[in-house]
Amino acid sequence: MRLPRPDRAETEVVRHHLHSLEGALDWPAAVDVARPWIEAVRAHPAPFWALESLLQEFPISSHEGLALMRLAEALLRVPDADTAIALTADQLGQMDGKASANAMAGGVSHCHDSALGRLTHAALSLSRQFLPDVTAQSHAHLGEGARTSNGPLARWGAQAVVKAAVRAVQLLGQQFVMGEHIDDALTRARRSHQGQPQVRFSFDMLGEGARTEADAQRHLTNYHQALAAIARSEREARGPAQADGLSIKLSALHPRFEEAQRERVMAELVPRLWSLCERAAQADINLTLDAEESERLELSLDVAEATIARIAKAHPQWQGFGLALQAYQTRSLALVEHVIGLARHHRVKLMCRLVKGAYWDAEVKRAQELGLANYPVFTHKTHTDIAYLACARAMLAAPDALFPQFATHNAGTIAALLQMAQRDGARFELQRLHGMGEAVYREVLREPLIGCRVYAPVGPHRDLLAYLVRRLLENGANTSFVHQLADPACGVDVLLRSPLHLQAMPGLPPPGELFGPARPNSRGLDTSVRCEQSRLLHAWDTLRAGQAADLVQPQVNNPEDIGHAVRRSLAAVEAWRCKPVTDRAASLRRAADRLQERLPEFAALLVHEGRKVWPDAVAEVREATDFLRYNALEAERVMAPVPLPAPWPGITGESNVLQLRGRGLWVCISPWNFPLAIFLGQVSAALATGNTVLAKPAEQTPQVAQMAVALLHEAGIPRDVLQMLHGPGETVGAALVAHPGVAGVAFTGSTAVAKHIQRALAAKDGPIVPLIAETGGVNAMLVDPSALPEQVCDAVLQSAFRSAGQRCSALRLLCVHEDIAEHTLAMIAGAVAELRLGDPSRFDTDIGPLIDAEAHAKVCAQLAELRRHGKPLWPDATPIAADVRELLAPQAFEVASITAVREEIFGPVLQVVRWSGDPARVIADVNALGHGLTLGLQTRIDSRASALAAQARAGNIYVNRNMVGAVVGLQPFGGEGLSGTGPKAGGPHYLPRFCVEQTVTVNTAAAGGNVALMTAVRA
Ligand SMILES: Cc1cc2nc3c(=O)[nH]c(=O)nc-3n(C[C@H](O)[C@H](O)[C@H](O)COP(=O)(O)OP(=O)(O)OC[C@H]3O[C@@H](n4cnc5c(N)ncnc54)[C@H](O)[C@@H]3O)c2cc1C
Repeated sequence: MRLPRPDRAETEVVRHHLHSLEGALDWPAAVDVARPWIEAVRAHPAPFWALESLLQEFPISSHEGLALMRLAEALLRVPDADTAIALTADQLGQMDGKASANAMAGGVSHCHDSALGRLTHAALSLSRQFLPDVTAQSHAHLGEGARTSNGPLARWGAQAVVKAAVRAVQLLGQQFVMGEHIDDALTRARRSHQGQPQVRFSFDMLGEGARTEADAQRHLTNYHQALAAIARSEREARGPAQADGLSIKLSALHPRFEEAQRERVMAELVPRLWSLCERAAQADINLTLDAEESERLELSLDVAEATIARIAKAHPQWQGFGLALQAYQTRSLALVEHVIGLARHHRVKLMCRLVKGAYWDAEVKRAQELGLANYPVFTHKTHTDIAYLACARAMLAAPDALFPQFATHNAGTIAALLQMAQRDGARFELQRLHGMGEAVYREVLREPLIGCRVYAPVGPHRDLLAYLVRRLLENGANTSFVHQLADPACGVDVLLRSPLHLQAMPGLPPPGELFGPARPNSRGLDTSVRCEQSRLLHAWDTLRAGQAADLVQPQVNNPEDIGHAVRRSLAAVEAWRCKPVTDRAASLRRAADRLQERLPEFAALLVHEGRKVWPDAVAEVREATDFLRYNALEAERVMAPVPLPAPWPGITGESNVLQLRGRGLWVCISPWNFPLAIFLGQVSAALATGNTVLAKPAEQTPQVAQMAVALLHEAGIPRDVLQMLHGPGETVGAALVAHPGVAGVAFTGSTAVAKHIQRALAAKDGPIVPLIAETGGVNAMLVDPSALPEQVCDAVLQSAFRSAGQRCSALRLLCVHEDIAEHTLAMIAGAVAELRLGDPSRFDTDIGPLIDAEAHAKVCAQLAELRRHGKPLWPDATPIAADVRELLAPQAFEVASITAVREEIFGPVLQVVRWSGDPARVIADVNALGHGLTLGLQTRIDSRASALAAQARAGNIYVNRNMVGAVVGLQPFGGEGLSGTGPKAGGPHYLPRFCVEQTVTVNTAAAGGNVALMTAVRA
């Protein structure tokens, strides 16, 4: 049995869930049970430093709350005092600024009573208990954010406030951590067991997902040690349902826990998990796999199934293996049924923790980014609640297969669960997180027969940060039960409102409708879902089977052919220009719809001819689709005549209208690295604005261009209006550019060729011809000590090495602060070692070959030069004999200075410099290189990011993310300086460059007098 697709329509799923709950639940009776719990909790409000109170005081939707969360996320990992001061000043300064403004607006002249004042004061006084010397700190120099602040930093001294803030974050963290080491946690647990015998624990060893094999081994060792310690502490044989246990994350045990690496994961991770299972089985304790992101669900199930099959053989008596299942996924009920089926098939009994799900925001973002048909999660909180109850009912009905564990802090949900469980007489346990839901559970556990397991994180403060932020988000969300419980303004009836109804409207626009009704978002395809992979593979097989017949049109080698094409094109200009813009736009929209339908076919061709890996190929087809729709819409906007001045008044007796018209014949020259998206981006912009086009694709990728041109012809673009001329740049490209009939040139490629074109155009007699050139650059990323190393590592791998570094936007120069350089570079080296080079048509390939032998030779020559003055950060891992030619493993070299980096290397090659001192100097040096395409900034100091962005001369700046994959309409793309002329493709200023402007002035008083004026003035 397989799971359904993750992107099913929400309404249909919720109806099914409601149906499955019919007759199972008396909600008013559940309310009667939960109401006294809530009243009792509210009768004893939590202290100031309890999380609920803090989030009530500083909601995460406020500047104060956001600042608190940002400090919580970053402050403890910052290694140096200067950055810690700058970060604290930045965040507290923002809070202070807003609070002051609010105070002023409310007529209070002082910010002493501001939220910041209260928080800092509370933090300082608490800190004093732990750090008696805190107020005696010197008033050391302040960071950049602090200089402008005359708030607490100035009053109490920077270092003292930083210490207080660190302490505040540690105190926050302490609410969620059971101990720094497993032994501390077990000691605390023992005390709890004595007080509350119904309570047991599932310990969680904190830490980020593994990026390297070393990380994975470290986590494995931690898990083994934790299991050993728990086993030692379990003196009586209580069985997994009564004993303490361990929760683990599969993503911690393997650096590539991804669907694409399935074979590797099954070969390498399953044995690691098995070693842990053996230990847990011997001790007869519970070992549960936490639920992670939805794209890992199918893979997690495969790993679980392989493990269950072994358990059935080796430890059939052990009933402690567990899975966490997320109700917020639209396929949750099918998942529960699948797991029940698994248990029955293998004749084992599993422990199943039902959660609602902790990654809702990330799931929504990913679905939007990938343009999926629907979200994999519900978009209404009540739908998640319904799904939870429907799953719970299914679990309670399968006592032979599962021991149900219900993890929730929601009093209504708990009361409903108790009701259903009592009806069925089923065994189960409740679960809560350490530091959350204590008050509700104090009431619930007055019933001594109810068992409760506490999920208890263990680890040092540094490892807590990601977990802490998740909990802050969870508790701070408006829809969260814990949040509403702490809010006295939220009535008990509202808190316990029945979720059992279908919401009429979707909670969020589906990913396809993000840009509104006028421009559908391109539909994507999730390559981590197996049925989607098979669509692509089918297209691949079809392409391979038909390849011989698929000949590309012959190259142009006769100048007369070019002359002929130009004449045809010029003859077509007038009719095309005079067509209504809506007609031209309609053709492009038709082409977009067909391209979307044929995504697998185009993607397969990009893999074949462009040597792209599948995710890149899919993303490119989507980008091309977006370009068609965006340029269609933009053309309708910019080509609409504009009355001037707009609006009234102007000079009476005349009307003025500004309008744009196509210039004539455009030559569009596109590169091989985006043979579909850039090709169609240029061509559709020219066509939409009423120009005819001669398109010259790159020599390496004519087949993609030919298929794109055929698509446009089928969609209604006349053949004379769009022609493709295929051949070498030196002859065909040069002849086209030099032709006197050409009205404009759009070019994407190297700076050298752009210069060549510029000179050729300047040398021509006749009209001055515009050139839109988009070229590459030495793109840099600055990393300061407040950055999250894992995020930097991911961003560097994606930006520098994915697509084998063959993107104009790719990262070429990493500037990392010396205080974090060792750790960050080691993590990058470890993660690079896990990348897989090879045949791009394989789903497990991360890095395919370079486009051809010429490109390969050029990069190799540049590498030879680099080896002379740079220090390699890891050995070259390029396979000597490989089935695929022109492979090149990612390489990185530490170089002496930014100025030593002369030219762009168009391959998977990164240069690295360490910096210290003022980050503005780094940006000044990068600016001095003269390129200006993309720049990455990795810092948690907002004021620093905006100051550096303002200073940088780069067209696209990315903060705390990767630097590639600009989205049409959201991140208009293109640079300045040596990186291009602008305007930016996919932006609002692009299309006018393809046009001439015309103003039409009409003397409306010409026919004898000014009627409008005479009739407008009153008597
Ligand atoms: C012991 C324990 C273990 C856990 N282990 C895991 C785990 O392994 N993996 C994991 O992912 N989570 C895990 N969680 C977290 C859990 O998923 C929930 O986030 C958390 O418990 C809050 O749910 P609730 O019922 O307590 O609160 P409630 O406030 O009733 O519910 C919050 C839930 O609603 C969802 N939600 C909020 N807004 C919307 C919306 N607009 N549309 C749809 N849904 C919405 C949230 O994402 C969250 O899941 C665990 C929780 C506990 C208590």
